[in-house]
Amino acid sequence: MALTDRQPTPPPRAGQLPLVQAQREDNPTPGRRRAVFLDKDGTLVENVPYNADPTRLRFTPYALEALTLLSAFDYTLVVVTNQPGVALGRFDQRALNALEQGLRELLAAAGVTLAGFYACPHAPAADPNFACACRKPAPGLLFAAAEALDIDLARSWMVGDILDDIEAGRRAGCRTLLLDVGHETEWRYAPQRVPHARVRDLFDAARLIVARDLDHTGQEELPCAWTLGA
Ligand SMILES: [Mg+2]
Ligand SMILES: [Zn+2]
Repeated sequence: MALTDRQPTPPPRAGQLPLVQAQREDNPTPGRRRAVFLDKDGTLVENVPYNADPTRLRFTPYALEALTLLSAFDYTLVVVTNQPGVALGRFDQRALNALEQGLRELLAAAGVTLAGFYACPHAPAADPNFACACRKPAPGLLFAAAEALDIDLARSWMVGDILDDIEAGRRAGCRTLLLDVGHETEWRYAPQRVPHARVRDLFDAARLIVARDLDHTGQEELPCAWTLGA
């Protein structure tokens, strides 16, 4: 599917850009970018436990198409991932950095830019007094990204394959989508763990995100074929 053949990002409506610029000059408000936060294992790439080998990265179905679509609509793309393998000694931070670099290169080859890669290196099993602010379901990774990348969390989305991702997204004030492909096995529900919607794959997620946000900007019709599936 060649998304680049489809319609480009809609131009801003008349008067929109000067207004936004004026607001920034008069009253600079942090967090103007809208982001899609993506869990890595089981969401963006197939889950290979404790993998730090970039050559073993495999994207989930339609992941690249999804990220291409989101990029076309100017979403900032950020990976937020728990990597307890660091604390457990399965691999070190340098190996994790190489994995990040490999992921960035695979995405760049598809024309997709990753704005950020935020990983929690901690592991409850490695420390009986475990506490960190970044391991999902805590929202610390999202807060760190928002601060560094000028992201408006309320206009952003979190997509993940388990309810800990959903909780992290909700605690950060984002809307949340559960990639419901059988990876969650415990289903410990609480209000913070209920996804705003469930999707079958990342392209489903991207279509829903674009459609919802176009609704909220007052645009009445979706461009061409980007209508929501049944
Ligand atoms: Mg996952
Ligand atoms: Zn952590």
